[in-house]
Parts: sequence; structure tokens; C-alpha cells
Amino acid sequence: MIRLFVQVPLREGGDVPLEGDQSHYLIRVMRLGEGDEVRLFNGADGEWSARIVEAGKRGCRLRTEAMARPQSSAPDVELNVALVKRAPLETIVEKATELGVNCIRLLRTERTNPDHTNLERLAAIAREAAEQCGRLDVPQIHAAERLADRLAAWDGERALMFCDEAGDAQGAVAALLGKGPGPWAVLIGPEGGFTSAERSAIRSLAATTPVSLGPRILRADTAVIAALSVWQSVLGDGAGLEVGSALPQVRD
Ligand code: SAH
Repeated sequence: MIRLFVQVPLREGGDVPLEGDQSHYLIRVMRLGEGDEVRLFNGADGEWSARIVEAGKRGCRLRTEAMARPQSSAPDVELNVALVKRAPLETIVEKATELGVNCIRLLRTERTNPDHTNLERLAAIAREAAEQCGRLDVPQIHAAERLADRLAAWDGERALMFCDEAGDAQGAVAALLGKGPGPWAVLIGPEGGFTSAERSAIRSLAATTPVSLGPRILRADTAVIAALSVWQSVLGDGAGLEVGSALPQVRD
């Protein structure tokens, strides 16, 4: 079933006009036509079944029929990631979206390359990943800011899982067990790693829990996948447990 993210309110019997890429994708690429069903979601009103009522050259029109899934809240985990090269950054956006982050904050650090990010392109990657993986919203990608500014503005309510490759941190699962379900942020550094000054600045936040992802140095995109998989499985919705339960419930 094709799912599309739209930015219009969704309610019963509503008209949803599609133009440009989305219409082209449905009509030309997927070769759908009048009467075919798709699913629509907009990040607020849940997921709706909709039918194509008009399919033209320049666009098409859908009519929403029924709510297929109510909007549900997901664990509150955001990714704070240092800028890396284009291909791994696109991988990071796609995988972090699949792994349920609610937003992605890009960071400039001592060792990041100059910021050539194309936020439009990253937003399109996030949207496509959200449509594919079945989530009901699309994570926002925030433009790069300096690590120091980010730390200075840190919201004390948000715990920080600091993925520290220096090797002197507790294993991630052990470090997270028993911690509260959120809100959380996962922090991943650049290809060149964090400087020792940056590491101590990050560790100086009361909200910080340093974690190790094992004895090998992972590439940033691998580290994002590993860290978010651990976080979701221990504190999020990755283990199929209700959000926030750090230990498997004893099933009698
Ligand atoms: N400093 C390394 C490269 C850093 S890898 C080098 O000099 O080659 C990029 C980021 O991934 C790191 O900053 C860290 O956030 C994360 N990372 C990689 N391996 C990790 C590990 N074993 N434990 C914790 N974090 C890790």
C-alpha cells in the first residue's frame, strides 16, 4: 500500500490535490488511476485511506475515506549528529528516520568539514523513509549549529546518550538500563571524532550519559544505527514493549 506524506489537514471526505512529484509518482511511476487507494498521513491526523478521484497530466485529486490508524505518540528521542560527508549523512537521515527519531539536529564541531548540506534534499530523504517505514510523522532536520551553542542551550529535561569512541564509557545497554524513557538525545561525532575539549564539555552536562558502542571504531553512520537500535530496544519502542520499560516485563 502506497503511503504519502501530505501537508494538508486530513478528515473524512476531504479533497487532497496532489501536484508535481507526488502526482507523477502515483500516476506515472506507480501507474495508479481513478479508483485506486493510497494511504495519506500528515504528522497530526493519523493515517487515512484515500482514493484517486481524478488523474490528469498535471496533477491528481484524492478523496479521504476513513482513518486507518490514529495518530500515536512515539518515544521522544532526537539525533544530534556532527556533519559528515554527503553520502553517509544521507544514510544517517534515512536510518535515523526508520529508527524513529523525532528530529535530527546537525552539528558543526572542531573536526567537521565545511557545511555544504542541502536541507531540501535531506528533508526529501526523511519523508521518503517515513513513508516507507510506516511512521506517522516525518522528523524535522535542523540546520547545522555549533556544538558549543547546542550544549549551552541544552534543555536539562532531555537526557543525552553521548556515544564516546574514546573507549572509557560503559557499554550502551548497561548505561541505559534503569534510566527513564525520555526525552532523550543521541549524540554522534564526525569522522575525525570529538576533540578532548569537546568530550569534556559534553561530559560536563548533568544530562549526559557517556556510552560505548563496543571495542571497534564505527563510522558515524554505523554508530547512528547502532546507538538508536540500542536506545529503542532498551528505552523506546524497539523491543515491542510499552515505551519506557527498561527491562523485559516478566510474562507469567
Ligand atoms: N575518532 C575516530 C572516528 C570517530 S567515529 C577516529 O579517529 O577514527 C564517529 C563517531 O561515531 C564518534 O565520534 C562517536 O560518536 C561514534 N562512535 C564510533 N565508534 C564508537 C564506539 N565504539 N563507541 C561509542 N561511540 C562510537
